[in-house]
Formats: sequence, C-alpha cells, structure tokens
Amino acid sequence: MTRTPLIAGNWKMHKTAAEAVALARAVAEEANRRPDREVMIAPPATALFPVAEAVRGTRLILAGQNVAWEEKGAFTGEISPLMLADCGCAMAIVGHSERRHIFGEDDAMINRRLKGAMNHGLVPILCVGETIEEREDGRTAEVVEAQVRAGLADVNPESGRELVVAYEPVWAIGTGRTATSGQAQEAHAHIRAVLAQMFEKDIAAEIRILYGGSVKPGNAAELMAQADVDGALVGGASLDAQSFAGIINF
Ligand code: PEP
Repeated sequence: MTRTPLIAGNWKMHKTAAEAVALARAVAEEANRRPDREVMIAPPATALFPVAEAVRGTRLILAGQNVAWEEKGAFTGEISPLMLADCGCAMAIVGHSERRHIFGEDDAMINRRLKGAMNHGLVPILCVGETIEEREDGRTAEVVEAQVRAGLADVNPESGRELVVAYEPVWAIGTGRTATSGQAQEAHAHIRAVLAQMFEKDIAAEIRILYGGSVKPGNAAELMAQADVDGALVGGASLDAQSFAGIINF
C-alpha cells in the first residue's frame, strides 16, 4: 500500500495576514515542485481568506486549526465547517494537544468536531498523544488507543478513508524533544492496528498517520522512513519557508 506523504504545517497563533500570504506563496511554490507529496498549511483563521486567494490554483492544501460541529449559531469564538470550506479549506485539525490541554477540550467534544468536519466534506486530522507522565507509566499505547477510539466514535467505516490521524506525543510538541523513530513507529503501528479493528484492514491501510513533535529538516527523513509514518504535522519549523521546504523535501 503506498500512501502519499502528507506534510502539514500548523501555524498556530502566528503571522499577520500579510506575513501569512508571503509565507503561503513560498510554500505553494515548493508544493508545486513535489507532485509526489501533499502539502498542507493551517494558517490562523484571520489569514485564511487572503491566503486562499494568493495560492488559488496551486497544489497547496488549506486547513482550519480547529472546527466547530454546527454550521452556524450562537457559538462565540468558533468557526464552522461551512465557513472553513468557504475560505478554501479542504481539511481541519481536531484535538490538537493545545486544544486538549490549554483549552480543556475532551474526547467527546473532539469527536463532535471531527464528525462536523466530515459531514461538510472537510478531511479531519485527529491529533492524539500521551503526556510524559503517561509514557513513563508505560501507558502510551492505552492512552493513544483510547483517544483514537473516542475521537472516531460513530464514524461510518466507509468514511474512514477520508481521515488522517496525527500521533503527537505531548512531551515532544514545541520542546525540541523528538520521539525516536522507533518510538514513533511503535505508536503508529498500534494506531493502525486499532484503526483496523474499528474499520476494515484495507481501510486502515489507506489512512495516513502523521508524526508530530519537533519535526525539523534534520530529523524528518529518519521519521518518514518508518513503515507506518506517512507524513508530518509540523509546528515551529513550518513558520519559516526554508525549514518547511527542508521537511517537504525530506
Ligand atoms: C504541533 O503543534 O502540532 C507541533 C508538532 O509543534 P512543533 O513542531 O513545534 O513541535
């Protein structure tokens, strides 16, 4: 099974609209040079519309950093899947560890967000990952499995193809500490086994599982060489055109 590598940049709360447009143009050029890879960016919501205009017609994919479950309504501060699609987004990140740990989002809410995205044709990237305490207690597999099962609860198995999972150990995000390629592969293989139980084996074999946590140009190749690592979700290193290009071209 060949899965097209997906290199995804999460810009978090960085970049004004003008800065975002300039960076997105540079990333789009790189994406156009690599038809063998998919490249995605999740700019801040305030920059989505001008970025979409600037990269229209390129291979660069746009995503929301989060997504609400309703189309519209009294949900102050939220962005609906309809609005993301209207801004040119094809994907949405859900369950990022910053949403879970800073903003208190739980698995039930993340599941609603994921289904809201899918119902509106957005491909969700479900983020899962253990804390350092959970890893040291030997609970990584159990924690990650529970997050995958809860995050994907009630997803129609046939729609399973239309999603991406990102394994992002909390202790590796923004810390400069990367999981070893062996640790990443072990977690990814476990996630794929869980997906095979939830959906069918051939569907699980199609789902891309990204690694995230201090991915840099210097460590991307070794991580991507692992059998079940199908791309990267990149924070810090996606904020600079050159370093993100180094990961796109791992
Ligand atoms: C992330 O935010 O998803 C992430 C992996 O961040 P960083 O690459 O900065 O560790």
